Amino acid sequence: MVRDLPIAVLRSLSQIAFSERTGSGVLILAAITVMAPWSAVGAIIGALSGTLSGMALSRSPKASWRQGLDGVNPAILGLIWGGVLSRGDPKAALFVFALLGCIALEHPMRSLALRWKMPVLSLPALLAGWASSITFQIFDDNLWLCFASMPFGIWSSVTAIVLVAAVVFQQDRGAAIVSAFYTAISALAAGWLTGEIVGPASLWAFSVAPTVMGICLLIPTARKQLWPLPLLTSIVAILVWTFLGLSQPIGYAPPFMLPLIVSMWAAYFAVRSYAGELATNPLMAEAVRALATAKAQGRKIVALTGAGISMPSGIPDYVSSTWLDPNIPVEEYSYSRFKVSRAARTAYWDACNRFRGLATEAKPNAAHRAMNDMMEMGWLSGIVTQNVDGLHGRKNTFEIHGDISAVRCIDCGATTPWPERATWQDKDLTCEHCGGHLKPGVVAIGEDTDQVIWEEAREIVEGCGVLLVIATRMTMSTVAILLSLAKQADARIIFITKGDIYQTVLESDIVMPFAAEYTIPTLSRLLGISPSSIEGDNSLKPPTRIHQ
Ligand SMILES: [Zn+2]
Repeated sequence: MVRDLPIAVLRSLSQIAFSERTGSGVLILAAITVMAPWSAVGAIIGALSGTLSGMALSRSPKASWRQGLDGVNPAILGLIWGGVLSRGDPKAALFVFALLGCIALEHPMRSLALRWKMPVLSLPALLAGWASSITFQIFDDNLWLCFASMPFGIWSSVTAIVLVAAVVFQQDRGAAIVSAFYTAISALAAGWLTGEIVGPASLWAFSVAPTVMGICLLIPTARKQLWPLPLLTSIVAILVWTFLGLSQPIGYAPPFMLPLIVSMWAAYFAVRSYAGELATNPLMAEAVRALATAKAQGRKIVALTGAGISMPSGIPDYVSSTWLDPNIPVEEYSYSRFKVSRAARTAYWDACNRFRGLATEAKPNAAHRAMNDMMEMGWLSGIVTQNVDGLHGRKNTFEIHGDISAVRCIDCGATTPWPERATWQDKDLTCEHCGGHLKPGVVAIGEDTDQVIWEEAREIVEGCGVLLVIATRMTMSTVAILLSLAKQADARIIFITKGDIYQTVLESDIVMPFAAEYTIPTLSRLLGISPSSIEGDNSLKPPTRIHQ
């Protein structure tokens, strides 16, 4: 961890501008230095003490510590204290207490925020800053009085703006453009309302810029599909600043980051009401970004689904064999037994008939429907499924374990409709073309996957940009092959599945341990897809494809 210390400290500084890049930390530090050198000193002291105490107390996960999250609030507090440090005032010693307070507040506030599913943002720095400001006021002093600021005059501002712009553009060009747009609009509006462009207008801009940037980065879909959101939050930010800042109810304690915090929380609330509880989960943002990147690069997005997606529709796990008769040994259901034993064939037909009964009655659930919508809107090129229930529909869907509604000849592959009644109990069902045995169109134990479907499945997975692995723990060797094909193509893998995954999970993979019926609809909404109004799509049971 000691080796990572400089990285974590620099990232604490870059986090001030919502960046996680180490290099950005240097640029942010330079920007602060040209504006107020002593604030830069304060920010370094803050970032270092927050990061060190995070290391000593190890209360946060190592990954978030390394991202600079333990140092960012103390760093912001250090920025605020820059003025006091610049004066050579003995009161500067109080900075130690302010820092300790800020660090002590961090974790209780994080847990509290987590309970409300909100990010803590810069709330600890805000509270410690307010406490500092009020303390100074009690001693009839002003925390904000600063010497030696803007050593290069107007060029200090220009340089700082260029440096911060470089950081935010590097982090996310789209987000930077959107926030620049809203900032300019709100500064102009403030200028028009108040008659001066520098005073209140710059304060409004100060609230709007980080707010819009934060929303665009933390809720990446906000700027496209939820475009009114930055506008609404800009207004919230301006209102908070106007009421708290200009009316100054608590004297020298200006709103600081309060507009940012309030408006971002409002945005979180709005997004969750729009797209579901999981919408503000950071993993969801990462998944949306991965999908958007693949689409922008013109690469395929492919889904690989398993039994878990059909369970909410009342379908048992086909692979786990829980649908088979427990009084008959599992081996009896194997393909080799089917070929040689009349009793095995009857048992197989009986079992498949029961499964088919369930599948016929089942309706596609929210996950199936959202995937259909994603396909309609060009966000999904194909679905490879281990399920045999037909709930995905037939469009660009590759059922590698077959299809329970089909019946095929095991010799010539000809397909026929499912027999009307349980005729298999009276006599062997044979092919009218070649006399071979007819068999339900699902892959039995020991039977090879249909070569044509397998090739199609391989083809759709090859060269994909994202593979969504949905509701499967990847225990079958066939799906493991498809996963490695996707990895060879350098695809981003997104696992959406509860429980352990029986395949190697890389650090670059996104693992969302949530139920598909909640996750996929939220993902689909965040991609800007409106849910189709058709409940239980009619196109789900068209005639079976014929492979001969
Ligand atoms: Zn035949």
